[in-house]
Amino acid sequence: MGLVIDFHIHIGLYHELHPWVMEWMKNEIEDPEAFVNEVLTPEGFAHYLRENGVDYGVALAELSPITTGMLSNEAVAEFCQGVDCLIPFCCINPYLVADLPSELERYVTEMGFRGMKLYPTYHHFYANSNRLYPLYAKAQELGIPVMIHTGSSVFRGARMKFGDPLYMDDVAVDFPDLTLLMVHSGRGFWYDRAYFLAKLHTNMYMEIAGLPPQKLLDYFPEIEKIADKVIFGSDWPGMPHIGRNIEIVRELPLSDETKDKILGGNAARILGLH
Ligand SMILES: [Zn+2]
Repeated sequence: MGLVIDFHIHIGLYHELHPWVMEWMKNEIEDPEAFVNEVLTPEGFAHYLRENGVDYGVALAELSPITTGMLSNEAVAEFCQGVDCLIPFCCINPYLVADLPSELERYVTEMGFRGMKLYPTYHHFYANSNRLYPLYAKAQELGIPVMIHTGSSVFRGARMKFGDPLYMDDVAVDFPDLTLLMVHSGRGFWYDRAYFLAKLHTNMYMEIAGLPPQKLLDYFPEIEKIADKVIFGSDWPGMPHIGRNIEIVRELPLSDETKDKILGGNAARILGLH
């Protein structure tokens, strides 16, 4: 078996999130705050990932003051420092900074971030808006992957129209050397679009965090055809049972090779891990 990589982990102090986010987490966990606090130290989290059979995790910052809350880039960088199994991804909110490319360059060259996540449904912008083009150009120049939220969001104030993965088509065409991940694979509304975009563009990937893994073949009956383009993620702590989700993927009626690629092979290639 190859590496197992969880491409979607939210790292942060949960008192910084809005109360409705904590409330939603109670669907899965009885006492979210205790659950998170118990493992959320750098050493504790490294141990937690190992226990769940995860070799590497992508740790996400999030600057969404109007919808979910603030998990700052500074805090994520600090948390990941010296923890080899955590790979920090920064967040840039186009409404909070003027000079987007300089901000990204600083995060990558000075703070050690190895990728970026954008949150169109939470920040209210279209992925193909002009405002973001210099940012994509910078990400392409720096050679870092860009994750973009697609599909549904349950949190108050999120706007679904911004989550259509079709808006990423322009970005994929205009930045052919930029690696783009459709986070949640167009969840709910646009599975078909996410699938065809991943099939069409060499630089577009489907990331499956937050989807029940047992449903993967219902959503994507021909997933085996794009085995090189699918990436596992959990959406911890919203989806707290990482190890169980990995087991469910392993039980799907797919070839072992495909399952290895989904669970870590594709992510390892994108992140330059071996
Ligand atoms: Zn998430």
